[in-house]
Amino acid sequence: MLNDCSMTQVAAGIAGCLGIEPPVDAERAYPLVGDLMRARGVERVERALLFCPDAVALWLYQRYTSWYAPVLAEAPVALPVRTMLPSVTPVCFGTMFTGVTPYVHGIECYDKHILAQDSLFDALVRAGKRVALVAVADSSFDILFSDRAIDRFILPYDGDVNAKARELIEADEHDVVVVYNQEFDDVMHATYPESKRALEALEHHITAFGELAGLARTAWAHHDRMVAWLPDHGVHIADNGHGQHGSDREDDLNTLHFYGFAPAARA
Ligand SMILES: [Zn+2]
Repeated sequence: MLNDCSMTQVAAGIAGCLGIEPPVDAERAYPLVGDLMRARGVERVERALLFCPDAVALWLYQRYTSWYAPVLAEAPVALPVRTMLPSVTPVCFGTMFTGVTPYVHGIECYDKHILAQDSLFDALVRAGKRVALVAVADSSFDILFSDRAIDRFILPYDGDVNAKARELIEADEHDVVVVYNQEFDDVMHATYPESKRALEALEHHITAFGELAGLARTAWAHHDRMVAWLPDHGVHIADNGHGQHGSDREDDLNTLHFYGFAPAARA
């Protein structure tokens, strides 16, 4: 069964939570997330942590549910999301941050180049938001939006990225902090999705999100805020025994996003 919500609906959903206009061609938001934000007593958030781990499939949550406690503790709103074809990172994050299909944003295969398509980053800049992007060098996030007027922190690997993200959250000088981690994707391609090292990588992503979201809870305590866990696509085991994705199959297309909202502490 494929998830109901499409990856094309994510950008407008996040824009809606921030109370800004969505990217120009973005598909309408899936209403659940905004409705649950308002149910938490938040009309719009002033701060957002958007944590993007690569290749974390929906089925990993089904098989390792209890491992996700640090994610659920900070972001209990679960939104199953159906990603794009081919289900590879530049295609999928391209869609997640523009709200349009690969045909429209222009990356229809594993090809990383700057996207001309209007994006969430552009929508945030137009709305006067201060945006920080913290990503691994040569990743899709490094390249697809590299010409945007945002603060970019491009670093060697996940540990450096997460250390910089901690600094940025504590400094509280950005309205939106986007963080990209890739260890699980790297290791599951080199081994397989449930190898010891791949599962350790999954745990690293979960731990990193829990720490960053926990830091946001204190550093951003006086702001209405959101934290989100936003993978790009899933994964399956290929005939050669390695982790692979890109195909028209549920384990590649179904991923799971988590959102958490909290109102500002009123002194
Ligand atoms: Zn991959």
